[in-house]
Amino acid sequence: MHPPVDLAEDFERFKARVAAYLKPEDVGRVEAAYHFSFDAHRGQFRFSGDPYISHPLAVAETLAEWQLDTQALIAALLHDVMEDTAITKAQIADAFGKVAAELVDGVSKLDKIENQSYEEAQAENFRKMLLAMARDVRVILIKLADRLHNMRTLEALRPDKRRRVARETLEIYAPIANRVGFNTLYRELQELAFRHLYPLRYRVLSKALKAARGNRREVVGKILEAVKKRLPAAGIEAEVIGREKHLYSIYRKMREKSLSFSQVLDIYGFRVIVKDVPTCYLALGALHGLYKPVPGKFKDYLAIPKANGYQSLHTTLIGPYGTPVEIQIRTAEMNHVAESGVASHWLYKEDQSTLTDLQKTTHKWLQSLLELQSASGDSTEFLEHVKVDLFPGEVYVFTPRGKILALPRGATPVDFAYAVHTDIGNRCVACRINFESMPLRTELRNGDRVEIITAPLAAPNPNWLTYVRTAKARAQIRHFLKNQQSSESTALGEQLLSQALRAMDIDIRGVAVTVWDRFLRACGVKSKQDVLSDIGLGKRLPAIVARRLAGGLDAKQEAAAAGKAASTILIHGNEGMTVQLAKCCRPIPGDPIIGIIRKGQGLVVHTHDCRALSRSRRERGSWVDVAWAPDISRSFEVSIRIVANNRPGVLAKISAAIAEEESNIVNVSMDDDQGGTTSLYFTLQVADRIHLARILRSLRRIPEVVRITRLKD
Ligand code: MN
Repeated sequence: MHPPVDLAEDFERFKARVAAYLKPEDVGRVEAAYHFSFDAHRGQFRFSGDPYISHPLAVAETLAEWQLDTQALIAALLHDVMEDTAITKAQIADAFGKVAAELVDGVSKLDKIENQSYEEAQAENFRKMLLAMARDVRVILIKLADRLHNMRTLEALRPDKRRRVARETLEIYAPIANRVGFNTLYRELQELAFRHLYPLRYRVLSKALKAARGNRREVVGKILEAVKKRLPAAGIEAEVIGREKHLYSIYRKMREKSLSFSQVLDIYGFRVIVKDVPTCYLALGALHGLYKPVPGKFKDYLAIPKANGYQSLHTTLIGPYGTPVEIQIRTAEMNHVAESGVASHWLYKEDQSTLTDLQKTTHKWLQSLLELQSASGDSTEFLEHVKVDLFPGEVYVFTPRGKILALPRGATPVDFAYAVHTDIGNRCVACRINFESMPLRTELRNGDRVEIITAPLAAPNPNWLTYVRTAKARAQIRHFLKNQQSSESTALGEQLLSQALRAMDIDIRGVAVTVWDRFLRACGVKSKQDVLSDIGLGKRLPAIVARRLAGGLDAKQEAAAAGKAASTILIHGNEGMTVQLAKCCRPIPGDPIIGIIRKGQGLVVHTHDCRALSRSRRERGSWVDVAWAPDISRSFEVSIRIVANNRPGVLAKISAAIAEEESNIVNVSMDDDQGGTTSLYFTLQVADRIHLARILRSLRRIPEVVRITRLKD
């Protein structure tokens, strides 16, 4: 257990650190943020018993060590107030500006994600999700400092909780620190996590390491001395530092390479810091002259930097007694980058306004990485890599079970449903995003928890094709619709054919298999199904097929039969895609109707007096007698035009009359005033012709209504 914190002392130390690089007025704003946070967290305590404010203060102090800007320090001090107190984002914006409020909001969003459980195998996706959500690099740095302090004070938690946090740190946060090139932080998070995840192994290893160091001091000193002498002798000014091995990396090497403790430890490490790039290569040459290099161990990260911006020369030499000596050679600036990564590029600028813009800061960071590359040439690829990884064109969302799915930006719940399973997509009817019902076309955002509601008889809506983003969803919807259309047209074809046969007093079920086979062979068609589907789609005429099945027709008779209609087909209005009510005349039950079979469209139903229909009278062969089924329960749309005197309140009267007659208005529009009268266009939902007549009757009773016409084109 650590001694209780001394807040006053901690705060003074923090203030001094901040004053060392910020302007006095900014120090004042940071101080104000501290007092604000102090008041907000009053009465709250950490598990350790310390006042809660000690945590944000420690996080802010870490950021001050990294010399981050005023906004980031303010946000660090306030990073838990939105989560743990009643303070809102708007209040923070009022007191400390929009940027600080955005940063706090960004950290709070990451905290929310963190509290969701995720599948352990998906650490990689979870990291990407966090990076994608943190649109500002500063949010990541605050989050990392937050995690660092929580790890440093982990003893206060129960052992099981400690292990969970430690594992998460090892799998999620240490790699993120590495990803943004923050090496010292990366190492410290790993060491802390290792200590809490495997306390016993940690103790044994650290004891062994301590003992080994004592024994080896002499050898290390000897090599260090030799290296230090050799460089000035070659005219190279350099700083040489012995490198301490970290316990976790020793542990990992032992596991991964199945080495013993002494085998791992018998590798000595030195770092050589020089003034510029050419000197790096000179130093390399000088050291290769001192001890023999191990072939194949030389790596040039100056020419080809690592993805996180790391640059250095690595080589392994064979030292005295045959012990391997690992040497890293780099410039002071590269060393700084290697230790602090992104944070090392956080150049504090006098002009705060240039720092407030996310794009600019991000750009600046990338730019500084780019400049770093310019000496070595191939930088574009590297830059692309960083950009893509930090702000990817993907969104990461949770399934209700905590699995993370990566979808392209702009993806909707329908895409999500198909990504989970084709059946979920096909049966999807609604969705809940973060426990709230949302439309299926909603664009998903990072960290959303998406739940799809399915119904056993549901089917994809063709309209989905207008907004789905993924190729999988698009292909599956198309596939389903095509199959559905063919099963609907088969059903219609069977209906048409059986009615055509009934007209000849033949039951379709009575047609022998041999008769069908002969017919199929004669037409060169594969299956009965195909024939029925062809009839449904208007590619074959039911009367002709019926006649041929009834008993050998020749070609001439076929042509004659073409004119004869089969018996009447009953229309229910809900047949699906193979029976369509014509858009031109919009027939409703009660209207005299006629059907036309169109190639590829199936049966289209028109009113008898449809003008569009008269144009196609010539194709009599494809006409089918149709009639309304007696038991229709759905409603139909119909368009009417009302000419009315232009007086105030007339639209309200008309709407009221329509509602009174239990009809819905689907659409309404109007023409301009034409000398005292106006034309109003309504699309209404009606049950049938009688219902429409009743509506028209009550509309005519309105004094202002001059004329009403039903529109049929
Ligand atoms: Mn925190």
